[in-house]
Amino acid sequence: MDGPTFSVVVPVYNERENLPELYRRVRAVMESLGEPWELVPVDDGSTDGSTEYLRELRKKDPEHVRPVILARNFGHQLAVTAGLDYARGRAVILMDADLQDPPEVIPQLVEKWREGYDVVYAVRQRREGESWFKRATAALFYRFIRRITEVPIPVDTGDFRLMDRKVVDVLRRMRERHRFIRGMVAWVGFRQVGVPYVRAPRYAGETKYPLRKMVKFAWDAITGFSYAPLQLAMYLGFLSAGLAIFSIPLVAAARLMGSKAFYGQATTLIAVLFLGGVQLISLGILGEYVGRIYDEVKGRPLYVVAEAPDVPDANEEERRA
Ligand code: UDP
Ligand code: MG
Repeated sequence: MDGPTFSVVVPVYNERENLPELYRRVRAVMESLGEPWELVPVDDGSTDGSTEYLRELRKKDPEHVRPVILARNFGHQLAVTAGLDYARGRAVILMDADLQDPPEVIPQLVEKWREGYDVVYAVRQRREGESWFKRATAALFYRFIRRITEVPIPVDTGDFRLMDRKVVDVLRRMRERHRFIRGMVAWVGFRQVGVPYVRAPRYAGETKYPLRKMVKFAWDAITGFSYAPLQLAMYLGFLSAGLAIFSIPLVAAARLMGSKAFYGQATTLIAVLFLGGVQLISLGILGEYVGRIYDEVKGRPLYVVAEAPDVPDANEEERRA
């Protein structure tokens, strides 16, 4: 299979207003590189006409545009996964559809790739047009995840990046369900390097990442790359056990000396609530991991494709294997 040199993979969820500008700018940049390229937009169950527009674009520019249309909304990370499965390029560039990742940065990524790097990720120097809440939670999140995992996940780095074919081929074999792709890429290894850029404001439309999705994403990242929450449960257990061991003789001694400090229901109530809380939280954390194990065991396809360019997809290969 001899594909193009570059594939640009773009997850699309209700980005109708951004698509024409995205296509125009990606096209201009890719043409300037002077090598064969393809655009692989992955329609993630859009309902705003993005799907129809992508079909049209395919008709207009069949040489470059190869849309993958999913059967429903599977979420950003799975849409990206589908795109990576269908991309044929020797280097694959991943970016958002809302032009927050400027296509004009691509030549810099390509330059590093030509120098021999296998992953060139774009590091957000500044983020424009995003709420302080998003910026603050994101900054905190990247630093937190770095502390609790051994995989060197770069800070302030989204999915905007270029990956060599050999990295993509490894990623395609990692079929885990709850995905944190930027972490998975870091896990793969090879030669990785960052390139700074300024994250632009959204060109049009609203964010498709409400707080609910952000929290789920963060949880997937944490559980996917660390046992820290499980260990936390254990530490809390040791803490309350330690507290009990120390305080029992103290309370007993106090009582023998005639003190009434620990009389009454309030003390009992506090102890019971504290322990009950610790236990329920631990159970909940355990449940999060068990649920994820359950999801993996079911072994469903990661996404369902409704329409795609004529190449075999990884799920199909997996089923045959
Ligand atoms: N996206 C997607 N499926 C979803 C949510 C988002 O494919 O369920 C795409 C979206 O169209 C965009 C990218 O993922 O291309 C990033 O989303 P967004 O810009 O809304 O996130 P933010 O930049 O606000 O974090
Ligand atoms: Mg965005």
